[in-house]
Amino acid sequence: MRSLDELLHRAEDLYRDLRFSAVREWKARTGGLAVGYLPVYVPRELLHAQGVLPVGVMGAGDDLEIIRGDAFYQSYICHLPRSTIELGLNGALDCLDGMLFPATCDVIRNLSGMWMMQFPGKYVHYLDVPQDFSPEVGGAFYRHELEQISEALTARGARPLTTAALRASIALYNDNRALVEGLYTLRMAEPWRVPTGELYLLLRAGAVLPVEEHSAMLRDYTALVTATTERRPMDQARVLLCGSFCEQPPLGLIKTLERAGCYIVDDDFVQVHRWIRGHVRSNGDDPLQDLVLAYLHQGIQSPIRYIDEAKKGQDLVDRVETSGAEGVIFCAPSFCDPALLDQPMAVAAIERAGVPWTAFKYSENTGQFQVIREQAGTFADSIKLWSE
Ligand code: SF4
Repeated sequence: MRSLDELLHRAEDLYRDLRFSAVREWKARTGGLAVGYLPVYVPRELLHAQGVLPVGVMGAGDDLEIIRGDAFYQSYICHLPRSTIELGLNGALDCLDGMLFPATCDVIRNLSGMWMMQFPGKYVHYLDVPQDFSPEVGGAFYRHELEQISEALTARGARPLTTAALRASIALYNDNRALVEGLYTLRMAEPWRVPTGELYLLLRAGAVLPVEEHSAMLRDYTALVTATTERRPMDQARVLLCGSFCEQPPLGLIKTLERAGCYIVDDDFVQVHRWIRGHVRSNGDDPLQDLVLAYLHQGIQSPIRYIDEAKKGQDLVDRVETSGAEGVIFCAPSFCDPALLDQPMAVAAIERAGVPWTAFKYSENTGQFQVIREQAGTFADSIKLWSE
């Protein structure tokens, strides 16, 4: 087993590698197709079952100068699509045979159209997801979407989908979900053992590594941090970070929050790993339908999913209780419609529950953290000094 330092270096190298070398190596080794996906969720099991590597494209963080990407979007749009276009135009994504654009917002919808025009030889699918959660309506619609993706992948050279392969892939991703969930649970109990700056790198590694390799990495990390005696609790405030489900904050921002006195005990980062709560149950003869039902009935609550207005914010209150958070930090990307339009209702719910909160916005290439550090530090101190 690697040492903790080696494992974290590997994860950070993967995170910073904007040429997607791990994907290129996988393709050279296996000859398989690699298909990218934008946040937040795609059914990776389906791709895996057909021998396709799902690759999370999460923007370029603060490591890439945007030269051409800005020309595609007006100024009052989030940063993620600019860096994604930039990565496409500079050749970083030429290792991908296609892209899936899940329906999160109009920005992603427009990006899928731009992709079709800019990269006409590549497979592009706008994954329209149901907002009706009955199997007869939303389920039938979603199943049709999945069947379309599967057929398109086969037409481009992927293995045809089989029941046995899909069942095996679901089992692998169930294992992966359980490992991620295990780390989230460990962090809630002992946040000093699992710093969020490290957990985040592991989540990002899972965006580019094959699931088997990612699960091995999670297992090793869990064993190493469970065994270590060098990490000790500090007097930090426990906070839940909410709103960073699509465009991701720079790593420096996460570390800044931790250094400012916050233990992040729950968050919305890289949600593809936790979008389905628990295992996809797959004992029957129709694992594709199992995937559909998991999407309908086990999806987490999110601003990009229909939630009855009367229930908006309740899930956040429940998460505060489960995680033992002492406060909530609303940390959303600038100009993110889904996150920011939901925020007032979420704030109202946690105010009713008497939970302290603060809010700021970021962009994936935010480079100055001093103001955020002061705000988060003051918030953490106020929790420690004045919360009941
Ligand atoms: S950050 Fe928000 S607005 Fe931007 S693409 Fe993602 S969901 Fe859409």
